[in-house]
Amino acid sequence: MLYEINNMKPTKGTHSECVPFSMNSMLHTHWIRTSFLFLTTLLCIGGDIYPHPIDTKVLEEWRAGEVVEEKAVIAYGIDKCFTASPIPDHVWQRMQGKTYKENPHIGRDELRHIRTLHWDYDNRIHIGEMICNEVIADRLVEIFRKLYEAKYPIQRMVLPDVYNADDETQMRANNSSCFCYRVVSGSKKLSKHARGLAVDINTFYNPYYKVRSDGTRYVQPSNAAKYCDRTKSFPYKIDHHDLAYKLFKERGFEWGGDWKSVKDYQHFEYME
Ligand SMILES: [Zn+2]
Repeated sequence: MLYEINNMKPTKGTHSECVPFSMNSMLHTHWIRTSFLFLTTLLCIGGDIYPHPIDTKVLEEWRAGEVVEEKAVIAYGIDKCFTASPIPDHVWQRMQGKTYKENPHIGRDELRHIRTLHWDYDNRIHIGEMICNEVIADRLVEIFRKLYEAKYPIQRMVLPDVYNADDETQMRANNSSCFCYRVVSGSKKLSKHARGLAVDINTFYNPYYKVRSDGTRYVQPSNAAKYCDRTKSFPYKIDHHDLAYKLFKERGFEWGGDWKSVKDYQHFEYME
């Protein structure tokens, strides 16, 4: 007895009549299966042959503070995501009266706009930007690229202008930044931030503090006192084992956590 494949009923007729019918049937079934497999394969790899357009708009517009997909970074070009350039007009306008004020010490030509990407603990890629002195611009690009490659967590890197250049507010938001034309807190001396030569990283978890003459502590941001205890472990903590510390130190920066009279754990300052 001859059976068609796929558990079909026995074929009728003589042996000689059955064979061609069954062969045809087998060939037909085989053709259907082959076609099905071919179409399935095409559908599976179709994404690669005819990819859906990848949305890189967030990168083209460089919307700092937003997240971006890794495939969009690749499509846009990763090298374009780590750059130092003259300050674009629209950024310069945002800075006026906030991080930038008319002054005799530093002008637009000496400043650079840094574009960078950074990871955070949420395992997502964030778009960052920073204004710094041209003297340290290439170093910063190199440091941030290495931090990105190591998936070093940085929560936020937007311009302080977003916070009206108010340092306390941006630190409470754990923002990382560099340039802001201002004096050292509690003095008339120009800060290294005023020349774009100091960088603050993950500021809420790495506060600044000093002990006043009456023994009380002055902490910035004022709600981050618990992170002055550096014997504890917590996210974003900068210490001597930290990758950011090592990268800044190797490139000629001093760390505020090493200072004696005050402590500024977020602060890396370029030594001229
Ligand atoms: Zn600082």
